[in-house]
Amino acid sequence: MLIRFLGAVGEVTGSNYLLETENNKYLVDCGIFQGENEKENEAPFDFSPSSIKAILLTHAHLDHSGRIPKLVREGFKGKIYATLPTIELCEILWFDTVKLMKEEAERINRKHQRAGKPPIEVLYTEEDVEASLKLFEPIPYDEIISLEDIKFRFRDSSHILGSSSIEVWNKDIKIVFSGDIGQWEGVMEGTPAIIEQADYVIIESTYGDRIHKSLAETREEFTQAIQSAISENGKVLIPSFVVDRAQRIIYETRLLEETLVLPKKVPIYFDSPMGKKVTQVYRKYNSLLSSELQKYYLNSQDPFDIENLRYLSSVEESKEINNLDMGIIIAGSGMCTGGRILHHIKHSIWKDNTHIIFVGYQAQGTLGRRIIDGARSINVMGEEIAVRAKVHTINGFSSHADQRDLLRWVDGFQGSPMFIITHGEPNSSQALSQLLRLKGYQTLIPVKGQIIDLIKKEISEVRPSPSIDWNSLFLELDNQISTLKEKVIGSSDIEKFGLLKAISIILKEIIKR
Ligand SMILES: [Zn+2]
Ligand SMILES: [Zn+2]
Repeated sequence: MLIRFLGAVGEVTGSNYLLETENNKYLVDCGIFQGENEKENEAPFDFSPSSIKAILLTHAHLDHSGRIPKLVREGFKGKIYATLPTIELCEILWFDTVKLMKEEAERINRKHQRAGKPPIEVLYTEEDVEASLKLFEPIPYDEIISLEDIKFRFRDSSHILGSSSIEVWNKDIKIVFSGDIGQWEGVMEGTPAIIEQADYVIIESTYGDRIHKSLAETREEFTQAIQSAISENGKVLIPSFVVDRAQRIIYETRLLEETLVLPKKVPIYFDSPMGKKVTQVYRKYNSLLSSELQKYYLNSQDPFDIENLRYLSSVEESKEINNLDMGIIIAGSGMCTGGRILHHIKHSIWKDNTHIIFVGYQAQGTLGRRIIDGARSINVMGEEIAVRAKVHTINGFSSHADQRDLLRWVDGFQGSPMFIITHGEPNSSQALSQLLRLKGYQTLIPVKGQIIDLIKKEISEVRPSPSIDWNSLFLELDNQISTLKEKVIGSSDIEKFGLLKAISIILKEIIKR
């Protein structure tokens, strides 16, 4: 069995691992790149999509799932294995992505048209999303599933609703993909499942070099940020991932109301066209949430519902709050790379009584990262805006394990698996690697394109160029030729005849070379 590292190496986004057994190819995750390497989403896959037997999807976050519809558009026809909440969340996130991509493409193409440049294409369409959804195969946690030459089992990784670590067996080798791991006693999903045995562990390292503040300290930071905004009669902007983090923030504001820190007159807006739907999925699968949250449901209450909270769906509703004086606005995207938060930033970040509270990871190259790094002015939707708002960064609400929690998860393993460290910026991966080595483990931080032969334990030199899959290319050509034959033989389409004649000449040329 071979593993090839194609995404989330040296960075946190674009998760994508290719597992090759003797006879089959499988993918674990197929996420989009965000921030600095966004352009890579448009690049062709390093393998032929039609050659992939199945995808094992750890969770719905777009940097793990967001290129699946592109894979389907380009010929993937296998099954996608995931938990039920992951499937429901993907449906919401993918349709939203199509909408955002379409809007962005229309905006760019208007410019291109005026400049006489060719139009750009979107990565995928609604039809591709619909086709992808049909390939899902829901699977429960903790059950071993056999599929051709592999077996696998999803375990609850407590990162977001439905998120998983995945154990994969092939012959005598067992490899574990950590997926994204949640905090140890996470307020939303509880504690990640412990896995005891593995030969190889692919482990995330988002916060491999950091320790989050305690829950009490985090709540105190949030309380102070909100209180200072209230005392200045200012607006509070909270850029947030719409899945999980937003629900967490709603719950935290609920607690502030319960403890009378937050007066009920302060309006709270969850401004996202998909906010309501996502929260609904959380309600539906509340049995997977932490015991802290389940208590509310047992008492017929809803932790994600507050009296003065409004879910805003339409653009008109969103615009209505542009001139709001005081209130809390939660909106995506979490790293300010798009979404409605941009409008709110544009309208308010130049005012000094605005407070912007970052409650999640800000990848390099994103607008969020520039703001927390202290930019005095930023470019928002083509306009230069001064940053006068007070900027707060609260990392404790993270749905990611910190260094201490990652090590706790590692301590669950018996024996001495090799740890392959991914899904982190270089400093974080290095820090985690050092600590694991001190514990006596063998570690590796792969680079993009690197291959490990898991049976021989051989690690390839980096292959910068993708390996070539001739077989699938010829299979594709054969298919096209037979369809074409059926269509054209007997017809009098002179134009197609001419084009085919030209292709034949090109083929001769290729053979000669
Ligand atoms: Zn995630
Ligand atoms: Zn991730």
